[in-house]
Amino acid sequence: MENINPKILVVDDEKGLRLGTQRLLENEGYFADTAENGTEGIVKALSEDFDIVIIDLRMPDIEGIEVLKKIKENKPNTVCFIATAYASYETAVESTRIGAYGYIPKPFTPEELIYQVEKAFTHRKLLLETERLTREKEERLLEIASEKSRLNTIIKSLKSGVLVINLTGETAYFNSSVLQLLNINELNLGEYVLDKLPNKINEMVKKYLKLEEDIHKSYSVQIEIYPGELYIDAYCSPVPNPDNSLAGVVVIIRNITEYKRIELVKNQFVSMVAHELKTPVAAVLGFLKIILDPNLNVSEEKKTDFLIRSSHRLEDLLHMVNDLLDISRLELKNKEKELIEVNLLDCINNVIEFLHNEAEKRNININFENNIKDPVITANPSEISRILTNILSNAIKYNKESGNVTINLGINSNYYFIKIADTGIGLRPAEKEKLFQEFYRVKSEKTRGISGTGLGLSIVKRLVESYAGKIEVESEIDIGTAFTIFLPIN
Ligand code: ADP
Repeated sequence: MENINPKILVVDDEKGLRLGTQRLLENEGYFADTAENGTEGIVKALSEDFDIVIIDLRMPDIEGIEVLKKIKENKPNTVCFIATAYASYETAVESTRIGAYGYIPKPFTPEELIYQVEKAFTHRKLLLETERLTREKEERLLEIASEKSRLNTIIKSLKSGVLVINLTGETAYFNSSVLQLLNINELNLGEYVLDKLPNKINEMVKKYLKLEEDIHKSYSVQIEIYPGELYIDAYCSPVPNPDNSLAGVVVIIRNITEYKRIELVKNQFVSMVAHELKTPVAAVLGFLKIILDPNLNVSEEKKTDFLIRSSHRLEDLLHMVNDLLDISRLELKNKEKELIEVNLLDCINNVIEFLHNEAEKRNININFENNIKDPVITANPSEISRILTNILSNAIKYNKESGNVTINLGINSNYYFIKIADTGIGLRPAEKEKLFQEFYRVKSEKTRGISGTGLGLSIVKRLVESYAGKIEVESEIDIGTAFTIFLPIN
């Protein structure tokens, strides 16, 4: 609504008065329209937005009270006057009850009219302002309600548990993850919850509630809910009131089972590595101590023997350290691989060439059969060589003297396959199972004296899988073993 030019409708059947009032209002700067009877008055008042309507009480078609009623029902913020020469107490009460702002007794002077209109206009502005504020408040309330429900939905869908506890230890809020993570069957809002919580959380929350703990500090504890199966981390923080007094405690519960599992594997791996490193280091140290001990009088020949053995153990150790570094590199996966087109045929021939001497030492014959032309994949050539060298060197190492190794290169659906089969010592089913575990080595009469780290196959598996490939083993004890590597055709 504008402050200037308020719109006024004059509803009166008396032409002279109607037009006179219109002219008077227009002279005062108002916008004034007229209706010559009640019916027209209603139509105009409802179809346009008038600030003020002046209604004659007595009209031939409809009584002014009826016109007032219709306008007030549909446009409650339009300020209406009843203008009449016959005001009675009853009509005054009735029209005020329906919503008339006031009476203008006829005949009225221009001053009286303008005075009343100005008052009415101020009232109209108040009504509109109230309406605007109410609408804004409703909109804001709607917004808050939808924000609240959005927040609620988000918290409810969190995998982490959220539990809010009030000062008397009752649940003020929780999501369903709390039940799963704390293994609680049932929980209700307003229920005393402390006894249902694991001891460590219970104690921590109680400390806050008894004000034994600084309410500006948060703490977290790790708890085993199902041994070996479910570990959680519970993070407790106090919720302060605006005046800094305590309102309650919020507990955020996370499932940390996977971290725990990784931690366990890591610890096992570290202790395995330490154990594997300790043996050769202790052996070398033992040899050196003997050589250096003046009281032992070790012959030069013996000393040389000890030094050669130490050097072998250290070489093995170096292999192991290099293998470990490869594993850690593969695990971290942070190195951008340089990928180029690798011809598997060339790669296999190079590896055969590289291990030729080893094979010859044991009189082992290597056959390579291939029917494919240009078997090319996109890969890192040194990684492909590493895979093939490991498998082929095992096929030579764990073979019988004068045995055979047969290499086949072929296509199997979407993969190139390289099968390396030996006529060696073979594996029992239980040994085959553990083949790809770090540090696993078969300990038997036949493997005694064959050096190795037990890391080669675990590296091979990691590498093959990094190319979305797979590795399969067939083996029979004392007959031989065949490894088949599948690498996807680009
Ligand atoms: P390493 O050869 O250094 O011991 P690997 O990880 O390459 O380690 O192999 C693990 C173990 O698997 C070997 O120690 C051996 O006992 C067994 N193995 C691997 N390849 C063969 C094979 N071709 N024939 C029989 N046993 C094998």
